[in-house]
Amino acid sequence: MRITRRALLKHMCLACGALLLKACTQVDDSLLEEGLLVDTPSLLTPVADAEDWQPAYMKLETEGKFEERINQVTQILEKCELCPRRCGVNRFEGQIGFCRSPEKVVVYSFSPHFGEELPLVGRRGSGTIFFSNCNLRCVFCQNWPIAHEGRGHPITDEALADMMLTIQQKGCHNINVVTPTHVLPHILNATRIAMHKGLRLPICYNTSGYELVEVIQLLDGIVDIYLPDFKFMDGAEAERYNLAAAFDYPVRAKESISEMHRQVGELMTDVDGIALRGLMIRHLVMPNRVAGTKEFVQWVAENLTLDTYVNIMAQYRVEFKAFEYEQIARAITSEEFVEAMDWAVEAGLRNLDERSVSQYAIHQRKVP
Ligand code: SF4
Repeated sequence: MRITRRALLKHMCLACGALLLKACTQVDDSLLEEGLLVDTPSLLTPVADAEDWQPAYMKLETEGKFEERINQVTQILEKCELCPRRCGVNRFEGQIGFCRSPEKVVVYSFSPHFGEELPLVGRRGSGTIFFSNCNLRCVFCQNWPIAHEGRGHPITDEALADMMLTIQQKGCHNINVVTPTHVLPHILNATRIAMHKGLRLPICYNTSGYELVEVIQLLDGIVDIYLPDFKFMDGAEAERYNLAAAFDYPVRAKESISEMHRQVGELMTDVDGIALRGLMIRHLVMPNRVAGTKEFVQWVAENLTLDTYVNIMAQYRVEFKAFEYEQIARAITSEEFVEAMDWAVEAGLRNLDERSVSQYAIHQRKVP
């Protein structure tokens, strides 16, 4: 039998892939046996039939409630209390609050993004829309030109809707609205406009976690995927590392994340492992235990469920004004990351992000 060069290469690649996969599985299995690693999310995450699935906002529209909900959220702008800053400014009249948002929504960029969690990225990327400005503004912000300086372009809600449709045309798996809180009315309005033009992707609400629970309640039936940070467990640390004190950050994050969990529950994917609905929490490990990781994992275990998707992140870097703060003016050590993951495992969390589990294995090898 003749075999073409292309076929030979393909079979070689498949064989190598299978061997690599087997090797990876063996590493994981051995670590599992030693009790060092938890099971992979793919074994724990409920699977839905993507063909029968539709985004939550379509059901709300069918019930005739979507427009009314948008109006409720938009009215808040008159005396803005969209977030815990509660500035009380009239955004319709162009008054500027802490977040510095002008009347129109300001967007820095939109594109398929491949650096997000794997269930969001899939094969064709997460459709991120980066909104300018921010209602929290951390001193270690990695997106400071966008969040602190407000770089970007003001656009209409119709243009925002077109961005969402472009993202869908590119094949992305979701609309990932990054730092959305202060421009929520625009996002909801644009989503409905886009929906009437054929948008069918889930909305992924990618937030710092500094939210008001009563505003999150208004998103019930609109947002399918919540992707909040939980940055600090201690109010004093939150106050210290935000440009304007946010002492109430831990309380607000706990309230709003609990509400998110009530609405959408644990992560659910399609058969390919692509996120359709659910809560995914991010926690960035910081130097000198500043983020309160031990308290964070215990809080998740005791207040949500052990199968809650949690991404313990190792990628803290010294950005923006972090150089001025001694406690956070360095990267984390391998010991600090291993300690953080040990706490997560000890707390019983069993749906940890795949890449955080890989990082765990890598950093374990570096610790004497
Ligand atoms: S969204 Fe902006 S203006 Fe409104 S309360 Fe928050 S920081 Fe203030």
